[in-house]
Amino acid sequence: MGPPGAGKGTQAKILAEKYNLIHLSTGDILRREIKKKTAIGLEAQSYMNGGNLVPDNVLLAIMDSTLTSLKDSGTILDGFPRTIPQAEGLSTIVENLDSKIDYVLNIHVEEQILINRLIERAQNSGRPDDTEEVITKRQKVYTKLTAPLVNFYKNNIIQIDGDGSIDQVTQRILKQIQ
Ligand code: AMP
Repeated sequence: MGPPGAGKGTQAKILAEKYNLIHLSTGDILRREIKKKTAIGLEAQSYMNGGNLVPDNVLLAIMDSTLTSLKDSGTILDGFPRTIPQAEGLSTIVENLDSKIDYVLNIHVEEQILINRLIERAQNSGRPDDTEEVITKRQKVYTKLTAPLVNFYKNNIIQIDGDGSIDQVTQRILKQIQ
């Protein structure tokens, strides 16, 4: 977990390769649905372009079927859960699969650094939600709906300082989970 721009996707990819996990980014899944013009993609598009979260029931249906189909593989979730109802739903999914969550990592970075990073990324990402206005909106949505998850997972959350180079942050994570 972590706010937009914290480096979740980058670190998740590195950890997935290192530990042979399947990297599940809900943002990537939704962008693929938009590209394929599926019903989910069409529903998700306006929420995403406006910097809002896609409704919980859509995400929970996607993650239920995806995690069920990957039942015997280790996965790293990137960008999910993002709300308390999603976290509750994930607990149920995990329980039904007789599985467990090994680690909850929260990458935190000061807001101004995040905004600068995202504005820089916007120059190459081609993402319609990487404009300054939508970036600010996504930070607000994070604070209101996603930040409370830190308390939801307070018993087993690992806090990671996300300021620094990609490698520095990876080393901080590895120190905590090895
Ligand atoms: P990301 O690539 O993780 O920054 O996600 C991009 C956008 O996809 C977000 O701003 C949301 O609109 C949507 N999205 C991704 N994951 C979720 C989620 N778990 N719940 C709701 N919306 C999501």
